[in-house]
Amino acid sequence: MDCIALEKSVTAANYDPLPVVLREAKGVWARDIDGKRYLDMMSAYSAVSLGHGHPRILKAMAEQASTLAVTSRAYHTELLGPFLDRLVHITGLDVALPMNTGAEAVETAIKGARRWGYHSKKIPQDRAEIIVAENNFHGRTTTIVGFSSEDDYREGFGPFAGGFRHVPFGDAQAVADAITGNTCAILIEPIQGEAGIIVPPEGYLRQLRALCDKHNVLLILDEVQSGLGRTGRWFAHQHENIKPDGLILGKALGGGVYPVSALVGTRDLMRVFNPGSHGSTFGGNALAARIGLEALAVIEEEHLVERSAEMGAYLLARLRDMRSNIVKDVRGRGLWVGVEVDPNVASARSICDALLAEGVLSKDTHGTVLRFAPPLTITRDEIDWGMDRIEQVFARSVH
Ligand code: PMP
Repeated sequence: MDCIALEKSVTAANYDPLPVVLREAKGVWARDIDGKRYLDMMSAYSAVSLGHGHPRILKAMAEQASTLAVTSRAYHTELLGPFLDRLVHITGLDVALPMNTGAEAVETAIKGARRWGYHSKKIPQDRAEIIVAENNFHGRTTTIVGFSSEDDYREGFGPFAGGFRHVPFGDAQAVADAITGNTCAILIEPIQGEAGIIVPPEGYLRQLRALCDKHNVLLILDEVQSGLGRTGRWFAHQHENIKPDGLILGKALGGGVYPVSALVGTRDLMRVFNPGSHGSTFGGNALAARIGLEALAVIEEEHLVERSAEMGAYLLARLRDMRSNIVKDVRGRGLWVGVEVDPNVASARSICDALLAEGVLSKDTHGTVLRFAPPLTITRDEIDWGMDRIEQVFARSVH
């Protein structure tokens, strides 16, 4: 049996991977089992923002794995302090709580926000409300899919926890109208990723910040995908010069090799956590902390944030220059770009498949948007290599 058939026969069908079997990857390039080379323009949804197998990350990982890896938080280590100290410095916030996956860090924020509302605003715990956006994506746990607006994510998985109120993304007035005395937080992606790289109107985050200040509500931003340089700033919210009360990070924080996530917040929010209130066996372990610390250092010392802004502008301009009757919209920030295709002419998935044949790894979302999010280390020549193939595929796909 070949790899794909074997995998399908023993794996729950919760994903529908592209028909390629990858064997190895370095930097922006991956290779399949037949030796064919691919330009990775997806970087595992931003988890591989530093490129595959970054030498500094691999060295730190190997050193730490053979020194001290997992102890649980039952003990202190020399690494958690330095890692989170760096994280609070870079985010401009005060205190962090380390977890593993993005969804866990979102759950951490939901718990934190509700308990903050309970303590600070005396909101009864069965009344607390969090405002979320339509078409959000924050992960796959039951609480989180409970407030997804995608039927596929929810069907048959209930009963779900209540306490979430939906508003259209990008509409500050809708948020103003949704706030009640029981609102403890607004939880939002500053740019919606899985929804198809939706950039809200200029000023949206500033308006949300003002509403939160006025009504004593927490602003919690999920930057699991948009954070750590992806949009050409350290964090997407910096495009609007605001600061959240809680910031959720993940993916790239693990240097492309390990799950590392965190909720970073103000002291006022984070003081709700006391011993016993939250945790994870693996969150903040020595290996995770060492890798996280190294990932932050690589982003800073290799100027990946600036590179993302510069190369992202180039990629966006080249995609916008493409003349094709398939393309309805090209949008994004930094090295995070969505190309919306006309569903009457071609499906995004069929373009993804065609790109795969040409040696470009991409991902479709909702059948109509093609996403490009290469490692932030990508060079202009590599973008040109990818763009030549993207242009060919788009030209061919016109009927
Ligand atoms: N939040 C956002 C904005 C995401 O894009 C994702 C993953 N795509 C998550 C949370 C969930 O992260 P994880 O898959 O690590 O649980």
